Amino acid sequence: MLKLRQLFSTKQTPQSEKIPGSAQVQNSAGGFSWQVDDWTRLDRFLILGSDQGSYYASPRKLTVENAEAVMRCVSSDGLRTVQRIVDISTSGRAPKNDPALFALAIAAAAEDDATRKAALDALPQVARIGTHLFHFMDYVEGFRGWGRGLRRAIGGWYNHKTPDKLAYQAIKYQQRDGWSHRDALRLAHPKALLNEQAFIYKWITQGVDEFPDNLLSDKGVRLIWAFEQAKRAERAQDIIRLVEDYRLPWEAIPTQWLKDAKVWEALLPSLPMTATIRNLGRLTSLGVLAPLSSNSRLVADRLTNADALRKARVHPLAVLSALTTYQQGHGVRGRLSWSPVTLVTDALDTAFYKSFGNVNPTNKRLVLALDVSGSMSWGNIAGVPGVTPQVGSAAMALITAATERNVQFMAFSDKLVPLNISAKQRLDDVVKTVSNLSFGGTDCALPMVWAAQKRVKAEAFVIYTDSETWYGNIHPVQALQQYRQKMGIDAKLIVCGMVSNGFSIADPNDGGMLDVVGFDTAAPNVMSDFICG
Ligand code: CA
Repeated sequence: MLKLRQLFSTKQTPQSEKIPGSAQVQNSAGGFSWQVDDWTRLDRFLILGSDQGSYYASPRKLTVENAEAVMRCVSSDGLRTVQRIVDISTSGRAPKNDPALFALAIAAAAEDDATRKAALDALPQVARIGTHLFHFMDYVEGFRGWGRGLRRAIGGWYNHKTPDKLAYQAIKYQQRDGWSHRDALRLAHPKALLNEQAFIYKWITQGVDEFPDNLLSDKGVRLIWAFEQAKRAERAQDIIRLVEDYRLPWEAIPTQWLKDAKVWEALLPSLPMTATIRNLGRLTSLGVLAPLSSNSRLVADRLTNADALRKARVHPLAVLSALTTYQQGHGVRGRLSWSPVTLVTDALDTAFYKSFGNVNPTNKRLVLALDVSGSMSWGNIAGVPGVTPQVGSAAMALITAATERNVQFMAFSDKLVPLNISAKQRLDDVVKTVSNLSFGGTDCALPMVWAAQKRVKAEAFVIYTDSETWYGNIHPVQALQQYRQKMGIDAKLIVCGMVSNGFSIADPNDGGMLDVVGFDTAAPNVMSDFICG
């Protein structure tokens, strides 16, 4: 009889087989996991994107799978889908807005009239800047024709902007992906509501020779005028005056002046948050940011202003990426180089934590385990260079380290090792430590198996993984059930999905298990609410 039990049990099943009677499916690694529902898949796609593919799936395959999941969401509940896209996009929970624009383009081509209308009505909320609009136009062409509803929505995007906002968009985001404001306006043909708008439309579509005096009293028209002046400027002084008087954004300055430190010094006081983060290397290389300089102080104060970070929807992943690049002392393409200013590096480190907003501690005993198997060190989260799922997991773990008092960090693949992570470490140190860990197979049951063996009193296990588990002789949920029985603790399991695939090690029928999306800025609080019940 003992032999039979070894051959078949619902309490212990090798990961290469499905748990008898369960709805598990085979994952890409050949093991068995659960399939997440389409709504979870939608969230994963909106936050993690798919354009980098994964260890197991090409960008194309992953994108097709995700787009199909989005389409199923659209046909089962189009309005809920649009609302979800708007919520995730406007709250800044995702590192990149492109998946939201892509999903909105799918919804804008829905068969259902109400869904199509909701999607087009939501366009200004999801496409907040010119670049977003161009991306949307590029995507939507893949799903539908330029019908009246779509043309009206694009026209409305322009018409509902005040002349100064319109002018700002026109000079700051001039073109992207083969689309320009001229193309958009020629296609949509909005009928201007104001003379100033009409003038700006004309300037965009045909160009103008003169700026009539009566219109120059308008701030938007003056901004366009200043932009034209900047094109003709012959001295840095002229550029500086235009920047100071008209607040020209840096994108509107002809490139030859962007090598001038004085020009950047003029731009700096009103340089927006995102532009500041993107230009730290350049500013340091030009000497605008230098050790002990007042400009460095100004930038450090800006970067650590929680309110400003939230308003600019700065995602922690963008901060992580900026920190990695800035620390290297040279750009991705390697033309610029600089000596990092410590004050700025430290400010980025602080900004990373602040960009998550306030995270509520659970004050529970937690085991937090990072999957460091080979598949986790492949590809980039949301297409951000250098941020593999593994690096992303390590960064998320630091948020927990900074918030919680009782947490044991572990790293696993086909074996498990303790991981020394402390909130006192800098982000880049932790990332470096974790990047050097990489083993072979994947056994997501190890954290629970280990905790049961060592009688570790954990109230929740938090596992960062792609759920491509296959190696172990017991499934993660079975290991959790055995742990619960042995320890008499009703421990919870949270799976942080770090890849936008369709798998999870969490049993959807167990109320003590939860799927969240890694690098969702809302995830830390969702997790702590769940752990606290
Ligand atoms: Ca793996």
